[in-house]
Amino acid sequence: MHELSIAQSLIALACETAQREGAVRVIRLSVRVGALSGVVKESLLLSFNLAAEDTACAGAVLAIEDVPLTVMCPHCQAQQTLPSIYQFSCPTCGTPTPEVLTGRELDLVSIEVAEAAEAPH
Ligand SMILES: [Zn+2]
Repeated sequence: MHELSIAQSLIALACETAQREGAVRVIRLSVRVGALSGVVKESLLLSFNLAAEDTACAGAVLAIEDVPLTVMCPHCQAQQTLPSIYQFSCPTCGTPTPEVLTGRELDLVSIEVAEAAEAPH
């Protein structure tokens, strides 16, 4: 499962960061997921919660920011947002747009950690 391996590497990275900063828990991870990354958000969240058990990431919030698919239209000379990932042509003029600007992202943006062991209830 694609999302599970992504979740596991996010968790590994976050746990490593927490350890390096002398923290005991990871509170929140922010990731950017592009429309073209092939990641199913719900599936990633589910995998994350499962894989986070018994790690410093247990109970952490995984915040996912969607990155739309945008391309450069050679005809309009402008950045265009594509409504579908299956049709690579400019929504304004119909020119094929092979040049992807955003949408391939799968980035860990930030990690928030806590130094105290207690859960913030
Ligand atoms: Zn165009």
